[in-house]
Amino acid sequence: MRNVVVMLRRLLALHLLVCVLVTACASAPAERRVQIVHTNDLHGHVEKAAAIAAVAREARKRNPSTLFLDAGDCISGTPVSTVFKGRPIFEIMSAMGYDAVAIGNHEFDHGWDHIQGFRELSDFPLLCANATGPDGKPLGDEAYRVFEVGGVRIGVLGLITERVPGLTVRTASLGCTFEDPVAAAKRLVPELRKRCDVVVALTHLGVEEDAALAGAVPGIDVIVGGHTHTELKTALEVEGTRIVQAKCYGQRVGVIELTWNTETKSLTDFTYRLVEIDPDEMPNDPKVKELVDTWEGQVDQQVSGVIGKATERLTKKRLRSRIEHVYKELLGTDFGYQNMGGIRGTIEAGEIQIRHVWTVLPFDNTLVKLTLKGSQLPKYAKGRLGKAFDPDADYTIATNSYVGDHVDKYFGIDSAPTEDTGRLMRDEVVNWVQEHGGFDPDGMPLDAERDLEPDEKR
Ligand SMILES: [Zn+2]
Repeated sequence: MRNVVVMLRRLLALHLLVCVLVTACASAPAERRVQIVHTNDLHGHVEKAAAIAAVAREARKRNPSTLFLDAGDCISGTPVSTVFKGRPIFEIMSAMGYDAVAIGNHEFDHGWDHIQGFRELSDFPLLCANATGPDGKPLGDEAYRVFEVGGVRIGVLGLITERVPGLTVRTASLGCTFEDPVAAAKRLVPELRKRCDVVVALTHLGVEEDAALAGAVPGIDVIVGGHTHTELKTALEVEGTRIVQAKCYGQRVGVIELTWNTETKSLTDFTYRLVEIDPDEMPNDPKVKELVDTWEGQVDQQVSGVIGKATERLTKKRLRSRIEHVYKELLGTDFGYQNMGGIRGTIEAGEIQIRHVWTVLPFDNTLVKLTLKGSQLPKYAKGRLGKAFDPDADYTIATNSYVGDHVDKYFGIDSAPTEDTGRLMRDEVVNWVQEHGGFDPDGMPLDAERDLEPDEKR
C-alpha cells in the first residue's frame, strides 16, 4: 500500500513537472532564430555603404536577434580610403552598425601602428586572435567576443592569414608576429564551446584555408570568411562547419539564418543567401549616406581633376603594360615591372581623372630600381629588352616597393640590389599621364600577354 502511495506521489510530481515544462515551452519556445548579416573585403568601396547599412537595418527590423559582421580588408581600393589613410572607412563602418570586424592583411597598408587608430575610431571591436605587434601586444581589441543574441550565446573568433608579411611592403608589418590560424583556433575554440551555444570564426584567410580550418578544428559552426573575394552562392560544408563569403567591394551581403534549439542544444536549421547590392535601386541609410558624401566631398577636389584621355577601355592587363612602360621611362631602366595583384581597377574609355589612377593603384608604394642578372630575368622580359640579351650582364628594372620587397615571389631569387627612390608610384603615374595626355599617347602597342605571376590572392 505504501508503495502505491509513493508511486502516486511520484506520478503526480512527474505530472506537475510536465505541466511546468509545457508552460515554460509555451512562454519561451525552444527554437530561437538568429541572423548573421556579413560582408568582407570592402576595400574602401563606401559608395555601397548606405545600401548595405539599409540591408542590415531591414534584417534587424525583421528579426532583432541579428549580428552584423565583416571579415576584414576594409580599406585600400578607393581614393577616399587612401587619401585619409583608411580612417573614413572605419568611421563609416561604425555608422553602418557593425557588431564586430576582423582585421585583414590590408589593414596593415599604412603600417601596423595605424591599426590602433582604427580601433579607437571604431564603435565595434576589431577581432584578431593570432597577430601581435612588435611590443608583443595583440593587434586586435580582443581575440573573440561573445554576443548574447535573442537568448543565444554566439562566440565570434577573429583570425587573420599568417601570410601578412608576404602581402604588404616589408615595413608595414615589421616586427609583428602571426600565429598559425589553425593553432590559434585549436587553442580557443574549446574555450568558446564551453561559453557559447554557437561558435563563429570571422576569418581573413581565404576560402581554401577556411575549408582546411574547418577540417582541422572541430567545434566551429560557421566560418564567415574573406580575403579571396569569393562569391559563395551557397554555403560550403566541411565536417559539419558552414563556410560563407560574400564576394568583395560591398557588391554582395550575406544573410545567414540560424535556428538554435534550447532543449536539444543544437542548430536545427541553417539558411544562407547573398543579396546583390545596387545603391541606385535599393534603399540607402540616410545617415550613412550623409557621412559618405561628406568624406567624398573632401576627397573630390583632390582627385576629380582631368589629367588625360583613354582612347579605349583600359583593362587590368592593358594597364599593366602601360604602367610598366611608365615605370621604365620614369627611372630610365631596361624595363618596368608591375604585379597584376597591385592593379585594382580598370579605366573606361573617355576622360581620365586622378581618381581613376587612385582606384587602379590604391597602395602607397614607392618606385624602386632593382638590378638583376640576365640569367635571373623572367622570360617575358628577355624578349622585351630591345637589345642583345646577355645572361651575365646586369639589367635594371623599375617596379613598386611591394615587388621590391618580394623578389622571391616575382623573380624566384633570394635578393637583388634595390634602390628605393622614395617617390610614390601613384603620384608619379598621375604626373606622367598628365604630361602625356593619357596612358597611350602614341597608340603604344600592347605587350604580348604573358602568364600571370602567383600573386593574385590579395
Ligand atoms: Zn585580404
